[in-house]
Amino acid sequence: MRKNYLLTPGPTPLPPEVRAAMARPIIHHRTPQFQAILKEAADGLKFVFQTKNDIFILASSGTGAMEAAVANILSPGDTALVIQAGKFGERWTEICKAYGISAEIIDVEWGKAADPADIEKKLKANPRIKAVLLTLCETSTGVANDIAACGRVVKNSEAVLVVDAISGLGAIDLKTDDWSCDIVVSGSQKGLMLPPGLGFISVSPKAAKLIEGSRSPRYYFDLRKAKQALDKTDTPFTPAITLIVALNEALKLLKQDGLEAVFARHKKMAEATRAAVKALGLELFSPKDGSDVVTAVKVPAGIDGEKLVKTMRDTYGVTIAGGQAELKGKIFRIAHMGFIEEFDIIVGISCLEKVLAQLGYKFQMGAGVRAAGEVFLK
Ligand SMILES: *Cc1c(COP(=O)(O)O)cnc(C)c1O
Repeated sequence: MRKNYLLTPGPTPLPPEVRAAMARPIIHHRTPQFQAILKEAADGLKFVFQTKNDIFILASSGTGAMEAAVANILSPGDTALVIQAGKFGERWTEICKAYGISAEIIDVEWGKAADPADIEKKLKANPRIKAVLLTLCETSTGVANDIAACGRVVKNSEAVLVVDAISGLGAIDLKTDDWSCDIVVSGSQKGLMLPPGLGFISVSPKAAKLIEGSRSPRYYFDLRKAKQALDKTDTPFTPAITLIVALNEALKLLKQDGLEAVFARHKKMAEATRAAVKALGLELFSPKDGSDVVTAVKVPAGIDGEKLVKTMRDTYGVTIAGGQAELKGKIFRIAHMGFIEEFDIIVGISCLEKVLAQLGYKFQMGAGVRAAGEVFLK
């Protein structure tokens, strides 16, 4: 018998209301009953995305929405500017490659945020750039980019701004309209507190023009078909009915709390996590640009980072994430995204302390829990 705690950057824990909604009997999608649900979902998503733009709901993980963005706005031979500051920035490049789109790359050191001035320079130097592809929270490093500043730069060019907000949406602020984000993509299993399986994509009027002109192959993710259906409160294919029912419950919870309170809670969870790991003598991977979504921590010398993550999970039921790609074994990541409250953080830190102690790391037992507790007392 064992309790499980999920402190990973997707999937994230499910609120009881969301789980209960998924146990309801399934209904048919071409019905007035489902149309009402779809309408509620569309309105609720606009609230979370902070936009008036259309938002399409796809039956896919977040990457499907990324692919839909590229396939619908860019054509073979087009040029896109990709900001690569980690594994998920690289995914934009890979998708461009798959569609024959030439990617100009701004390589940002992993652990650092993008500099909007670099984007401005590239846009000036190459007027062929049709889209700027970047990431709200680069989950692989824990770093959040300044989307507002990037939006100000891209707004004055011909290019559209495309933001991967798969992790971060519903956790930290993202003002789609005020920050001039033409396309925002997201997924269900992170800040939105749902199981994986839904992709979301919002489209501004500037981006909608590109969708009409794209020569890329597309069928399932054809947003022209999706738009025709959306205008009739419908979907082109069978939607993920159960997940959309659950989405409305999650959106209700976010609305009840209000976005400001939701962002403030994430900020507090992040602050407590950072204080805790520092109190244990550990070093943050991104001391300057770390987000309130997920905290990346350097594995201390002499400790096996993969064993740390594995022991926490397999022996004690507390799942955090290790490092990806070049950061494998070098960092671990504690997510505080979605349905996470202060005592989830306390459990995570307490388990981290126990396993660090067992692995022979020297520190004062309880120092992390105490530091987190002090943040929560404020
Ligand atoms: C999780 C994540 C993705 C991938 O989403 P999937 O739902 O696994 O397809 C892409 N970008 C970022 C920033 C992510 O955190």
